[in-house]
Amino acid sequence: MAEHIFFDLDRTLWDFDKNSSQVLAGLFDEHLAWQGLAEKTEFIAKYQEINEHAWHEYRSGIIEKDLLRWIRFYRTMEHFGRADKHLSVLLGEQYVERSPYQKGLLPNTFETLGYLKEKGYHMHILTNGFSEIQHIKMNESGLTPYFKNLITSESLGVQKPHAQAFDAAREIAGIAKQHAIMIGDDLHVDVLGAQAVGMTGVYFNITGVAHGEAPNHEITNLIELCDLL
Ligand SMILES: [Mg+2]
Repeated sequence: MAEHIFFDLDRTLWDFDKNSSQVLAGLFDEHLAWQGLAEKTEFIAKYQEINEHAWHEYRSGIIEKDLLRWIRFYRTMEHFGRADKHLSVLLGEQYVERSPYQKGLLPNTFETLGYLKEKGYHMHILTNGFSEIQHIKMNESGLTPYFKNLITSESLGVQKPHAQAFDAAREIAGIAKQHAIMIGDDLHVDVLGAQAVGMTGVYFNITGVAHGEAPNHEITNLIELCDLL
């Protein structure tokens, strides 16, 4: 029986997509609504499409992080016929500043964490992210009291799915291989990475996407963990 559970943070507990849309809506209202460029929902949808492409360029080494931050806004504005670098840089800065203060969590987060805590599980966060940002998200959204450790790839110096990330996390938690479960929304990064080092993997497949892999367990809502664990 496992006693320790590692949770991923973004899109597993912290509702990244909802929180991101809220920040974008606020930025639109403040800076763009009066310009008559586009409807808010239309602007956000186009931004998300352009952002995804820009992230792909960033991961491929085509653009750097500083450029990524504002170019996604610049290209979105350009699409609607009003490219503005000065405003795009401002939007990029405010987006990054405001995002971690959003409090949206995935459905049944508190119910599930409360149940697991009551049952005596020791819970930790293992996230590919920056320590300061993830700390703010945890505190603002009320997650902090449920977790013994917040372990970030920044503090470890290595990202999931590398074996060292899971091994180092277990070391911090002070536990053995067979006693750990990893739960996350990224099948390869969270789940298969953890299984490769002998942990039990739980895939949080929120959209129910089809795949050919073999996670140890699969859920579509966090509350299912109460039956599983
Ligand atoms: Mg995630």
